[in-house]
Formats: sequence, C-alpha cells, structure tokens
Amino acid sequence: MDANILQTPIDYLKGVGPNRADLLRKEIGIHTYQDLINFFPNRYIDKTRFYKISQLQRNSAEVQVVGKITHIKTVEQKRGKRLVADFVDETGKMELVWFRGHKWIRENLKLNTPYVIFGKTNWYSGVFSMPHPEMEPVEEYKKQLRTAMQPVYPSTEKLAKSGISNRVINKLMQQLFIETKARFYDTLTDELREELKLIPRAEAMFNVHFPKSQELLTKAQFRLKFEELFYIQLQLLRKNMLQKQKIKGFVFEEIGSNFEEFYNNHLPFELTDAQKRVIKEIRSDLGSGAQMNRLLQGDVGSGKTIVALMAMLIALGNDFQACLMAPTEILAVQHFNGLTELCENLPVNIRLLTGSSKKAERKEIHEGLENGEINIIIGTHALLEDKVRFRNLGLAIIDEQHRFGVAQRSKLWRKNTVPPHILVMTATPIPRTLAMSLYGDLDISVIDELPPGRKPIKTVHRFDSNRLKVFRFLKDEIGKGRQVYVVYPLIQESEKMDYKDLMDGYESIAREFPDYQISIVHGQMKAEDKDYEMDRFARGETQIMVATTVIEVGVNVPNASVMIIESAERFGLSQLHQLRGRVGRGAEQSYCILMTGHKLSNDSKTRLETMTGTNDGFEIAEVDLKLRGPGDLMGTQQSGVLNLKIADIVKDNAILKTARYYAKKVLTEDPNLESEKNLRLRHTYSQLAKHKNIWNYIS
Ligand code: ADP
Ligand code: MG
Repeated sequence: MDANILQTPIDYLKGVGPNRADLLRKEIGIHTYQDLINFFPNRYIDKTRFYKISQLQRNSAEVQVVGKITHIKTVEQKRGKRLVADFVDETGKMELVWFRGHKWIRENLKLNTPYVIFGKTNWYSGVFSMPHPEMEPVEEYKKQLRTAMQPVYPSTEKLAKSGISNRVINKLMQQLFIETKARFYDTLTDELREELKLIPRAEAMFNVHFPKSQELLTKAQFRLKFEELFYIQLQLLRKNMLQKQKIKGFVFEEIGSNFEEFYNNHLPFELTDAQKRVIKEIRSDLGSGAQMNRLLQGDVGSGKTIVALMAMLIALGNDFQACLMAPTEILAVQHFNGLTELCENLPVNIRLLTGSSKKAERKEIHEGLENGEINIIIGTHALLEDKVRFRNLGLAIIDEQHRFGVAQRSKLWRKNTVPPHILVMTATPIPRTLAMSLYGDLDISVIDELPPGRKPIKTVHRFDSNRLKVFRFLKDEIGKGRQVYVVYPLIQESEKMDYKDLMDGYESIAREFPDYQISIVHGQMKAEDKDYEMDRFARGETQIMVATTVIEVGVNVPNASVMIIESAERFGLSQLHQLRGRVGRGAEQSYCILMTGHKLSNDSKTRLETMTGTNDGFEIAEVDLKLRGPGDLMGTQQSGVLNLKIADIVKDNAILKTARYYAKKVLTEDPNLESEKNLRLRHTYSQLAKHKNIWNYIS
C-alpha cells in the first residue's frame, strides 16, 4: 500500500472526529492511520461460547449471553442512583446494572429485543448481575465482522470514561481496514518469509486485529513480533557496522613491554580461560583500526579488574594514556590501591582523582595528564570535568556502567579528536535478552567463569526471630578469623528511619560482640571517614562492618566470609546479588544470610527463593527482569528500546534470538542492503531511519 494513506491524520477516519482524535492522540499516542494499525491488542477473549443464564457460575470470568430486557428501573441509594434492568433468556433471569450514563441507556436500549451481552458477572443474594455490560442488538451483532477470538486493546481511564470503549476501537479498526483496503505491503524478503514460514504481512495484520482462529492468531503474532525485533536488530547491528567503518580508532599495534613484563613476571595468579579469552577479544579490537566499544559482563568476583589493567597496559605500550572511571569514591580508591600494588614493579605512573582530591593535588594531576607524565588515571565523575584534559587518552574504562548514563559515556569521548577505545564493565549481569536489544551497538564479552578454588556461597533465609542463632553463628566465624558484613537498606524516602535502623543495629551488635571491633559506614559520613573505616576493615583491624548499601559496588575484602542482609525483603534482586558478591572472594566457605520479618509479599518470597536457590547472576537477572519488567531495570529507562509495540522482550526471547540471527545474516551478505532481493528491507529500513523512530514502521 502506498505509505501516504497510512500517514493520514487519524481525524479523517470515519467515526473519529475532532474530540475522539484528540483523545486518541493524547491518551494512546495515535496520530495517524499508521499508528492505529500498529496499536495491538494486549489480550484476546474467547467469544465463541454463549452461556445460558442457568449455566452461570459464581466467580465465572467474562461471559456472553443472549436475552432480552423486560424491565428497567432506577434504584436510589445513599451513594447515588443506579439503573437496573431485568435481563431474561429461556432459562432464567439476571440483572444488568449501570452506575452512570443513565439517560443514554434509557433512551437507547429497547425492551423485549434480543441483545448479546458480554461482561463479568457478580452474584449477590441469589441473583447474578452484570455491571456495565457490553451490549449489542443481535441483529447488529450478526452483521459485524465476527471473529472467534475477540481482541482487547490497551485502554486508559480517560478513554473508557469518554466512551472510547474496546468496541469503539474495534469498529475504528474495521473502518481502517475498509478505507485502506487492508493491502499492507510486505516488509520482509520472500527468502525470509519462506525460510521462517511467515505469513504475509497483510494477513498477519488482519489476524492480529480480527483473528479467524487461534492458529492464525499465533502465526500473525509470530510474524509481527519477528518483524519488530528484526528491524530493531537490523538497525542496531548496522549502526555498529557503520561505527566501525566511520569511527577510526587508534591502532595499538603492539602489546608493549609493560604488558609483557606484567604477564611474564608479575601476574599474581593464573588467568582463567574466560579472562584469557576476553583479553584476546579486547586485544583484537584495539589492533583493528576501529574504535572499540565493548561491554564486559562478568559476575561479581569473576576478575574483571585484572582484565582492565591488562587492557590499559596495552594502551601504555603504544604510548597512550588510559583512564578507569568508577561510580563511587570507595570503589575508585580500591581500584587505585589494587592497581598500584599490581603495578609495583612496572614503570607506570598511576594517580587517583576524586571529588575529595585537594586543590593542589588536583592541579598537579591536571598538569600531569596534560603533559603525559601520568599514564593511568583512576577516578570518579571528577574525571569528566572540563578541566581534565589528556595528552593522548587511548583507552577509557568505565566500571559498573549502569551507574552512568549513556550521555556520560560519550562525554569521555569528546576529550579527544579521535575517540579513545571504550570498555564498559558491568557486574550487574544484564540478561542476555536485554543486552542484545539494548546494547546491540556494543560488542559484548562475558567472563562466565569464576577463578578456581572458590566455594559457592551458601545462602540462607532467616527470620528476625532467629537472630540469636545467627549471632552465635557469627561468633563462630569471627572466632575462626573471618570478617563479617551487616548491611541495612537505605531507601531515600525514608532515609531518617533507615538511618535509625542502622544505628540501632550497630548498637545491638556492639552490645552482643563487646570483644570485637566494629566499623560503620553510611552515606551521611564524610568521604574521608568512610575511607578510613573501609580501610580499617580491609586491613582486618575491625571484624564487623555495619553499613548501608554504599558498600554494594565492587568492594573487595577477601577475608570477609559472611554477609548479613537486614530487611532483605526490601532489596531488589540485583542489589541482593551484588551485596552477596562482597563475600566469597577468598578460599574460605562464605555465607549470605537474608534476614526478614514474617510478613512477606509474593514477590519478596520469589526473590528470597531465587537467592537461596542459585548463585548464577544471569539466572537471577532473568528472574529480576520477569518480576520487575524491563522498564525498571537499572539503566534501561532512557533507552526507549523497550517501547515495543507487540513483542515482549522477556517472553519473546527466542524470537529475538532468531531475529538477531537473520539480521546478522542479511547484513553479512549485503551490508548496505543494495541487492535487488533486499529492496523491501532497504525501503523499510530507510523509512524507519527517516522517521527517527525505528519502532514505527511504514507498511
Ligand atoms: P570483579 O569482576 O567483581 O571486579 P575482581 O576483579 O575484583 O572481580 O576480582 C575478584 C577477586 O578475585 C580479586 O581478589 C582478584 O584478585 C581475584 N582474582 C581475579 N582473577 C583471578 C584468577 N584468575 N585467579 C585467582 N584469583 C583471581
Ligand atoms: Mg569490580
């Protein structure tokens, strides 16, 4: 169909008019014919079945009945009037009830005329009633385009109140199909259609809005979901390809003497195979001539730091500088200390720059970066300040990337005329599904193996009432020379309360463990004080660390073997997993104890069960995604990627993979979509690009 008719403003569709058009635009973003055709039902109801009144059951779902109204009366109530109609069929009697719209109903409903009614029933003192039924005279009903599965479209309160019911949307959809003659041109190649046995687009569109059968509906949904995900992947993959072509990167030809020296003589442990593989991937990016844009995913404790260091050493070996940016000061300091130690025997100048660096030191660092004396700078957001300029930044590494927005990521870029290579590291395992659609423009490396000798952390759930037992266990562990974290939630809205919880907790632990040293760290402390306490704990001077979630990210104290999480039901899954990752970093058996009260919501129970059931970050992330939906996952809010029209990023995981596979295949054969057979793809693709919204297709 020519694209023009689909660009017609929705006002022109018969049955719409200015008021409705306004509501459709404001409430559900439907501006054009095109938008309406892409407005998909979120469920379907089976209207193949008709019930007799005598067959109605209490608690039955939505039902459809044929009968007649024999009588209508107004019933006065304290809270207002309601209109009640007697509705009968040959088997019995029920009531229809309206709380509003009385005038219209009285004027329009005909007595003793057969109607089809549809809705939910209530049962009250021996009578079934149906509030605000959908109804239609049987005569009309027979004339309508009728399908077995009735679509239910998403709605809003305002739409419903303004009379744009599901039935109205349905009618508008019919009108749309009539006016456009439903000739929706195909957007996929014949080859793809044959290979995947996809039904034609026009047929899919028809069956998704007016399913002829369950079977056709399934085929229609598959076809449209595939198409949606396919074009997203096509766009992401192509962007990635173009980036590689256009954005030249520094070529790091050698690995350099620092790397060699470190690898041969100072490696503190044997690298895992996963670490080796990832270093190879990075090495090959850095030598390729294109700018690296790589996401390094690795569960907590999988050893990303050493990979980061080795990548930075390659930059240094090619006479470039490198930077490592962390989301918190504690983490930046820890990286600084750790990397300084690892580079002890190398001629490498590493410095630290954070918000609390003193003025004089700051100045010195700024100078050192500009004249190239400093090789590696580690820091927080302070690195993004305009004053920070490099002589030649070759590699920028961002740790725990979900704390930084995309905008910040690109801010690092702008520090050079040629953008540095970028490595983004995250310990929050982003489900593969999501990573693919969110970061399709990044290459992904995964460290999927923990360093050897690690014993899996044992996780248990304990109720607050068992606290004494938990304390006894703590005493045993500390007695063996181990250290312990006790973490309290800190949630902004109730900061004061949380702070009190933390202090109360601290005091009760101090009472219970008079012989041990206790550190406390929370967000309201000065950075210096925090560092001081963290440091005491890291050096083993204190045995117990009482803290809020400030310790969540990255902190590394291998001797700590117990993590107690208070009010664990208040934490999200990814946060629980992050916290747990603070232990299990040494050779000792480690434990995570989730403390809660007895009252738990179903979601909380699922979270606790997931945590006690697995240590696999990816598995946890998938559950998290299912519980919270993609919109809530950290870092995904601004992406817009999840604004899918028909596919569901969680449920349609398999289709997403298929779509990505075929998008890749098409682009490998024909990167610019120039060949004759890819004409449709090119056309659709360029339309999408033109409209800047890759999820609004042109048919
Ligand atoms: P994360 O991926 O969470 O940043 P780290 O880089 O902090 O993990 O590593 C966690 C701990 O494991 C550190 O103490 C580190 O020295 C150690 N480690 C890393 N790689 C190995 C390895 N291949 N063998 C033994 N220990 C390792
Ligand atoms: Mg780390």
